[in-house]
Amino acid sequence: MAVELNRDGLRIGGAWRAGAGGRLPVENPSTGDCVGEIAAADAGDVDAAVSAARIALSGDWGRLSATERGRLLARLGTLVAEHAEPLAHIEARDVGKPLRQARADVTALARYLEFYAGAADKVLGETIPYLPGYTVHTRREPHGVTGHIIPWNYPLQIIGRSVVAALTMGNAAVLKPAEDASLSALAFAALAEAAGLPPGALNVVTGRGDTAGAALAGHPGINHLSFTGSGPVGAQVQAAAGRNGVGVTLELGGKSPQLVFDDADLEKALPFLVAAAIQNAGQTCSAASRILVQRGVHDRVVAALAERFAALTAGPAEADLDLGPLISAKQRARVQGFLAQGRADLALAAEGRIAEGAPPGGHYVAPVLFTGVPADHPLFQGEIFGPVALVTAFDDEAQAIALANATRYGLVAGVWTRDGDRQMRLARDVHAGQVFINNYGAGGGVELPFGGVGASGHGREKGLEALYGLSALKTVAHHHG
Ligand code: NAD
Repeated sequence: MAVELNRDGLRIGGAWRAGAGGRLPVENPSTGDCVGEIAAADAGDVDAAVSAARIALSGDWGRLSATERGRLLARLGTLVAEHAEPLAHIEARDVGKPLRQARADVTALARYLEFYAGAADKVLGETIPYLPGYTVHTRREPHGVTGHIIPWNYPLQIIGRSVVAALTMGNAAVLKPAEDASLSALAFAALAEAAGLPPGALNVVTGRGDTAGAALAGHPGINHLSFTGSGPVGAQVQAAAGRNGVGVTLELGGKSPQLVFDDADLEKALPFLVAAAIQNAGQTCSAASRILVQRGVHDRVVAALAERFAALTAGPAEADLDLGPLISAKQRARVQGFLAQGRADLALAAEGRIAEGAPPGGHYVAPVLFTGVPADHPLFQGEIFGPVALVTAFDDEAQAIALANATRYGLVAGVWTRDGDRQMRLARDVHAGQVFINNYGAGGGVELPFGGVGASGHGREKGLEALYGLSALKTVAHHHG
């Protein structure tokens, strides 16, 4: 079945409609050209979407069994896989991702659907020993209407780990994609409709953060909110939800470290060190931008990294080079601000290049490697969200841990050592939601619970853990009488 993916409008209650907030331009970050428009929702549209979700809960969607929900998600997964190529091109054009990355994002979405389709009817309750004459059991129920506010860097993957997990548990969802990257969310809604998702189970309200996003965050009809994005907006969303007594999952930024010890397998580590810093042009919350290297291998690692960074090329998404452009002129200006500070204070070990012939209107930044970065430097502390990697030397394990934990963030960490005891100590002592030992999975593995500590947020997405966060546990105490 071929589904039309290029949709326009808001998706509310099973219908496409215009937004009362007018229209917003769609830019291709590879060229800077305006390539279309999306509808802008206002607070009234958001209200209509929440109402449609509520109606779905008391209608066809709410009546489906867990097994039927799983089958529906499996059909949707098949449709996503069948439309992988057009979906990848939509994402590449809208976000500026190299096609390889866009294809990987589609594969990840299909895998989320496969995983959660299988999990839908396997979320079990417990029986709890209690007083004589009682049987106590627990059951997991949907929260009701869930709101999902997502960023522009991995729209398809974040839809997979947030919206798909919410639907798995029987919630009805209202999705607010980022204004810079909404097209794949609309395409996903079209595929969901074709898979047979009942009207109102998934609603998509495109539009601005300070109107549509704020209206969703503060809507009294929302029962749970999942927010992925920046710290300051996350704090606003949490405050708005708090006024309604609503729980929030916050997936915020990161400044993830990779720790390379003298005994590490460097040949294995090097490709991970480069890829984890520049994947998606560094616009990855779990980008490992801080590379902490023990003194004995420091110079070797820096030389090898410098050689690899110098060979990297940024270019248009469709050219499928090492990295694409940044999402917008605003993000590029932000990254250039960090770079100017780095050039003034730090040693520049290597710089990649921008492909010859790359459109001048595209938002390209050549990848950069700085060395000798002290822990109190703004580049060490701040989330750059661009293709910039930093190397800092350490002497021993205690110093490595102190450096790893020296920022407000705690999302992911990579540890490279052959020493088994040290692996276990670091897994315990590094502040992060995920620790990868002798590998690094920037966001990888749909099965693996993911989320932050500290300024990286709270709550977990992905894996079975996401299903627990997207449901409410009810305890039923039955007295036999
Ligand atoms: P952002 O916070 O500006 O925007 C995220 C979303 O929030 C967008 O949909 C936006 O429209 C909406 N929004 C903006 N203002 C709002 C408001 N006042 N009320 C409600 N919603 C509002 O973030 P961004 O610039 O799109 O994304 C970059 C940031 O996101 C980085 O800090 C990055 O680390 C983080 N991020 C985190 C993860 C993760 O899983 N931890 C994943 C991707 C991105």
